[in-house]
Amino acid sequence: MTFNAIPDTNSDTVISFKSLKLVSPLLTRLDEIHYTKPTPIQAQAIPSILAGRDIIAGANTGSGKTAAFALPILNSLDAVNKKHKATGNFVTHLILVPTRELAKQVSDSIKSYAVHFNGAIKTVSVLGGVSINTQMQALRGGSDIVVATPGRLLDLINSNALKLDKVQTLVLDEADRMLSLGFSDELSSLLSLLPTKKQILLFSATFPEQVNTLTTELLNDPVEIQLQNAEESTLVQRLFTVDKGQKTALLSHLIKQHQWQQTLIFVNAKTACKHLADKLAKRGITAEVFHGDKGQGARTRVLNAFKTGGIQVLIATDIAARGLDIEKLPVVINFDLPRSPADYMHRIGRSGRAGEIGLAISLIDYEDYHHFNVIEKKHKIYLEREQEPGFETTNFEKLVFETKTKLKAQPKGIGKKKRNKQPPINADIWLGKS
Ligand code: AMP
Repeated sequence: MTFNAIPDTNSDTVISFKSLKLVSPLLTRLDEIHYTKPTPIQAQAIPSILAGRDIIAGANTGSGKTAAFALPILNSLDAVNKKHKATGNFVTHLILVPTRELAKQVSDSIKSYAVHFNGAIKTVSVLGGVSINTQMQALRGGSDIVVATPGRLLDLINSNALKLDKVQTLVLDEADRMLSLGFSDELSSLLSLLPTKKQILLFSATFPEQVNTLTTELLNDPVEIQLQNAEESTLVQRLFTVDKGQKTALLSHLIKQHQWQQTLIFVNAKTACKHLADKLAKRGITAEVFHGDKGQGARTRVLNAFKTGGIQVLIATDIAARGLDIEKLPVVINFDLPRSPADYMHRIGRSGRAGEIGLAISLIDYEDYHHFNVIEKKHKIYLEREQEPGFETTNFEKLVFETKTKLKAQPKGIGKKKRNKQPPINADIWLGKS
């Protein structure tokens, strides 16, 4: 892995996991899995978490956020476990994530970090789409760490399989998604069940402005860590302009030309996955699909096959955009542009993780042009408009001209006005006040 070393602010030495005061079972394990030094987010977040502070941490996708919250939690549990063990059906550390795949991935990482605690720490994953009885049994006798998607967690609470009264730490992974309106009802129910005194840790690659209001009310004097840095990214972003009718042809041309071992393609609708897979099949490319209408068994099978190289082309909706760690994924392609600029970052962040070189390609036709400008503006990037020989856009000149004119003509503050049109999120929902 090629993460940059972190200089200690007080000296010229490089921060090590040992200097972060992690206990030896963790240090041994980190050594075994070749985590030679903390990533920037780990170096900054771990001391604050160990000191008991609330934090809001923003860092690039694939920058080691899971270990940034998991290691200090495990560290504190090691100390606690000498006196206490998990009891009843209580949980002391709760990690909420937006998708089932992420719940499994995060709990697998935690179990891997904890192997040298020799079973002293109990981690349970709670997610929909699979048997609830197995999870009920796993939760019996209490848990140290539960990694959960909100819906299934509430089902288990309602069945008395789990109680949140003794939660000491709450982590919201992909926090902006967890705090979005899509999860508002579930999250407000869960928050109302938590004790008043708790440590809250928010991690995400993107923090839209609406979330800021919520976080100031939810957190207690949080430490803010912002490490999103486009220049440090190992991900190359490219943009191809193409006529709408030529998009599939260009996509199949790129896949064949580059012969990527794995290609993750994003579209905006479940039906579009199958539609595009059929069109690629006609061009001799076999692709599998991944979306929320597939059963959990099929989702797990497809994802595992993709991760291990059994499937080369995977067409997915945004359900695959968040947090998934697919080792050395060479390329992500936006066949459809994502609706929100935040989703753009999450999608492309599936490639170029852990310091590896990655590639993100967006295919845009005339109708996407304005939307891509918005994405660029939001993320303060500008990508060269490329044309692939043989797939040139008929109205490319017009597009470039229109964009330049628009950018010049745009009065200051227009972005702000537009953002204000979005309905503000009601902080009371999260605080259980309404
Ligand atoms: P995450 O952002 O937590 O999904 O992590 C992205 C990838 O980085 C995963 O494959 C981790 O195993 C890897 N990773 C996390 N921390 C380190 C580290 N300190 N050194 C090397 N690899 C790491």
